[in-house]
Amino acid sequence: MPPFVSPALVNETSGDPGLFVPFTYDRFAYLFDIGDINPLSSRNLLKISHVFVSHTHMDHFIGFDTLLRIILGREKTLHLFGPEGFLENIEGKLSGYSWNLVNNYSNLLILEVTELTDMYRRTRTLSCQHRFQPIAEDVRRDTDMPAVLYQDDGHKVTAAILDHGLPCLGFSLEEHFRINIRKDALNRLGLPAGPWLHELKEAIYKEENPDKTISVPAGRNSADKKTFQVGDLADELAIISKGQKISYIADVAYTPENISKIRKLAMHSDHLFIEAAFLDADRAHAKRKKHLTARQAGEIAGLANARRFTLFHFSPRYTAPASDFYKEANAAYEAVLNRGT
Ligand SMILES: [Zn+2]
Ligand SMILES: [Zn+2]
Repeated sequence: MPPFVSPALVNETSGDPGLFVPFTYDRFAYLFDIGDINPLSSRNLLKISHVFVSHTHMDHFIGFDTLLRIILGREKTLHLFGPEGFLENIEGKLSGYSWNLVNNYSNLLILEVTELTDMYRRTRTLSCQHRFQPIAEDVRRDTDMPAVLYQDDGHKVTAAILDHGLPCLGFSLEEHFRINIRKDALNRLGLPAGPWLHELKEAIYKEENPDKTISVPAGRNSADKKTFQVGDLADELAIISKGQKISYIADVAYTPENISKIRKLAMHSDHLFIEAAFLDADRAHAKRKKHLTARQAGEIAGLANARRFTLFHFSPRYTAPASDFYKEANAAYEAVLNRGT
């Protein structure tokens, strides 16, 4: 998978949680939490290939029906990941509908649903044409934490099991590396930018044979083509740098165990998305609700050495502007960084 582009919250900061992460070349996207997803266009919804659900409180899960509605009847495999009880939750939702006619669909829609606990991970393959009954099951008893939930050539997604009065997953998405193209070298070789650069980048990501050839227009607006080997172009044009890491932490209690697990999972994130349901004046209430305050979220962002952070999930009880949340979060973040821990 090629690099992802800017992750974006689906809703305003007091709306349902959800982080949409599209990948370049416009074909796939990941979604972290699936609350109200109506702000996403149908085009974007259809790009979603993987959904990572922190927990199944309604505000994080109600959009499942919306997504299923739009992909029904299409040829697609949708991967879903969630915490303990997730399979039962998905199957419970599916059993709320009648499926007597789906065996007529010619396109194969598959839901591949994985539930992660600290004892096992269980994956069930649910087929639309079989009325979403399981057609396969796989159980693995690996307990390494954070757990690698999914990986391919370009990146991996890891998860930690956090506590929110129930198991709640935190996630990190990490690219192996990034490729940038040297404009000066392009000019020196007299090659025009164009779609062939995507082809070159994909070949590098997939570590294809360096002898593979690519056709490149001989000049701007030229119909003539020159042929180059991927390895030669990569040597001349590509700058390989460290990949990006983003982390997504929703709905957690402020406990030493959670803080330690989040640090381990999200350490050195380029961008941390972290819930901040309450202001610190209401920290006793936050504790009862097993949520973070903005000050606590900022402190955790500092402890994880995140390069930047975004707060979300503000309680609708506040009329205070977002800047009030950021003021106390930034103060805590900077205090931790200045302390040098
Ligand atoms: Zn919750
Ligand atoms: Zn929530």
